[in-house]
Amino acid sequence: MTNKQQVIDRFTSYITIDTQSDPKSETTPSTKKQWDLANKLVEELKDMGMQDVSIDENAYIMATLPTNVNHEIPTIGFVAHFDTTPDYSGTNVNPQIINDYDGGDIVLNKTENIVLSPDYFEDLKQYKGQTLITTDGTTLLGADDKAGITEIMEAMKYLIDHPEIKHGNIRVGFTPDEEIGRGAHKFDVKKFGAEWAYTMDGSQIGELEYENFNAAGVIVKFKGKSVHPGYAKNKMVNAVLLANEFLSLLPPREVPQHTSEREGFFHFYSIKGDIELTEIEGIIRDHDRNNFEARKQLVNQIADDLKQKYNDDIISIEISDQYYNMREKVEPVFHIVEIAEEAMKQLNIEPIIKPIRGGTDGSQLSYMGLPCPNIFAGGHNFHGRYEYVPVESMQKAIEVIIKIAEITATKYLN
Ligand SMILES: [Zn+2]
Repeated sequence: MTNKQQVIDRFTSYITIDTQSDPKSETTPSTKKQWDLANKLVEELKDMGMQDVSIDENAYIMATLPTNVNHEIPTIGFVAHFDTTPDYSGTNVNPQIINDYDGGDIVLNKTENIVLSPDYFEDLKQYKGQTLITTDGTTLLGADDKAGITEIMEAMKYLIDHPEIKHGNIRVGFTPDEEIGRGAHKFDVKKFGAEWAYTMDGSQIGELEYENFNAAGVIVKFKGKSVHPGYAKNKMVNAVLLANEFLSLLPPREVPQHTSEREGFFHFYSIKGDIELTEIEGIIRDHDRNNFEARKQLVNQIADDLKQKYNDDIISIEISDQYYNMREKVEPVFHIVEIAEEAMKQLNIEPIIKPIRGGTDGSQLSYMGLPCPNIFAGGHNFHGRYEYVPVESMQKAIEVIIKIAEITATKYLN
């Protein structure tokens, strides 16, 4: 069993370093401050005895825990990201430690009356009696994904301190800028050299994910013609109404607020413009690749129909694929999911396997040649002031990493 205080201390030392990423920046990492934690991690990896510790010009960190057996075992990897979301402040994170949580309201901030309550956040109830780490109500916590970083670090340290646990080569990868969708972009899969990996970037204990959305972005521009409304008969073309007509032709129930599990949707989230030019922006999501393609086609079809009805110039449409469902890449190597599932079962953790209604770095990595399911890191209510993490969940995640290494080693014994 890992030392609880050690986990708390390590986690606290990471979350109190501000590593917010910035989508408007073009550099990698997107913010200079991410180096503060990156450099610290490099030092710690070296100090604990990890080999081949490297950090490149974009702050991607890699390290190896060398095998301690003689037989051939596939190299596996564990990946986490050290940036936090641009959506919420990560400056001056002031963690509160709630020992032996009594199952009631947690006052995060007395002066501002900010309360983390199980009446609203029902997941809290399952952690009665555990140690919770919360914010002080003014920032996010950063368990996404510094819980993941903490867990990988602690697991590597544990394996180094316990050579009696047999394992193959294990690669560790820490990335910047996951929260702005670029975590995998400059990840050198070849250099990483693992046969498969796991991102430690899920939420509640037990989560194991290998399905995510197929995703595309859509921009549609409508061109109108402005004429004095009093004299506009047969002359005016109103781009605002064209956009409205376009949106009205989409299936009204296939939107985020009416769909769940594997149901896909169209989500137009921005409209701006006037009579002369109106632009709408949206996203298309679906777990099923065929449905995904059909959705893109429907959007194109609606545009074509409107062109026919009016004329060719009134609409221009741009659809660009963003990422794909990793299931396609994971299914042919499904033992990598089974190993994680087996690890959880051996640790009496009920695996919660469900499709992600979003994407992960793992989906991009999977398409870059590194099949990469996602495992829980333990936190809840990411990207806001109500974020919290039970320390016991982090400890379990550490044990899962260790167990995966162990199972992989014995699986390839013969
Ligand atoms: Zn994350």
